[in-house]
Amino acid sequence: MKLPFNKVFKGKQKEGTERKYIDVADEKSVVASSEKKTDEDTIAAPAVTTCPKCKQEFSKQEIKDNLNVCVACGHHYVISAEKRVRTLVDPGTFRPLKCKVAFTNPLEYPEYEDKITELQKKTGLDEAVLAGVGKIDGFDAVIAVMSSKFLMGSMGIAVGEKITNAVEYADRKKLPLIIFTASGGARMQEGILSLMQMAKTSAAVEKFNNNGGLYISVLTHPTTGGVTASFATLGDITLAEPEALIGFAGPRVIEQTIGQKLPEGFQRSEFQQEHGFVDQIVPRDKMRETLAHILRLHCKRGK
Ligand SMILES: [Zn+2]
Repeated sequence: MKLPFNKVFKGKQKEGTERKYIDVADEKSVVASSEKKTDEDTIAAPAVTTCPKCKQEFSKQEIKDNLNVCVACGHHYVISAEKRVRTLVDPGTFRPLKCKVAFTNPLEYPEYEDKITELQKKTGLDEAVLAGVGKIDGFDAVIAVMSSKFLMGSMGIAVGEKITNAVEYADRKKLPLIIFTASGGARMQEGILSLMQMAKTSAAVEKFNNNGGLYISVLTHPTTGGVTASFATLGDITLAEPEALIGFAGPRVIEQTIGQKLPEGFQRSEFQQEHGFVDQIVPRDKMRETLAHILRLHCKRGK
């Protein structure tokens, strides 16, 4: 497909996607967004689920009440970005960052806009990342959470902009930065422009790092492709959820390419920790206290 370059960049200016100084949302809009029901809150029948790991049956409510973790074997189910934030921050302290990015369809990909609109309704998110400021055990932090429920958390122009905006906000306000990654990689619907987000986000992290900022990267299932190859692996401290798939290309692709069987547990968190890629594996129920502990070591209270 031929890239309509002139159109892309002309269109981008027109639609107001250029970078602006961003501030946090006001109280009213936060309350409004927290009242939105996500698909996770409205799961109806069937009320039972079979755990993909231990194959036992549980009521969905039981799993939901346990932070979307299997009560028997500890399998970590997908968790929505909104619920993730709720499990981390002190109640009532989270304020989303204002960062609206106008929709663009640079390749004129068929039905792309409809798909985005549908996902926005379904997830209550405007894109595959939710970013804001909140307190964890009294410590202020910028928190960005990617959602694998939104086009597999793929990184296009909007995700790149939202991540960059969060990093820059943390830099300006001298706050620690925590990013939860979950991504299938670059967003194919946006072609080469999605690959450019790797350079953009990495450059923002580099600047933040040079200014002495603390960046904690938390890798969740799955963290792959262009996100692994950019900001996900640039943290000062890299945490991961148990058994998350973490890699660049998927194991099947690698196996087909090299014509060899891969070792057991290849690209899972535990394998990555053993090989020095991950600092610590943290189960979901220990995430908040682990982050609070790191923040306590690095920050002054309330700063
Ligand atoms: Zn299980």
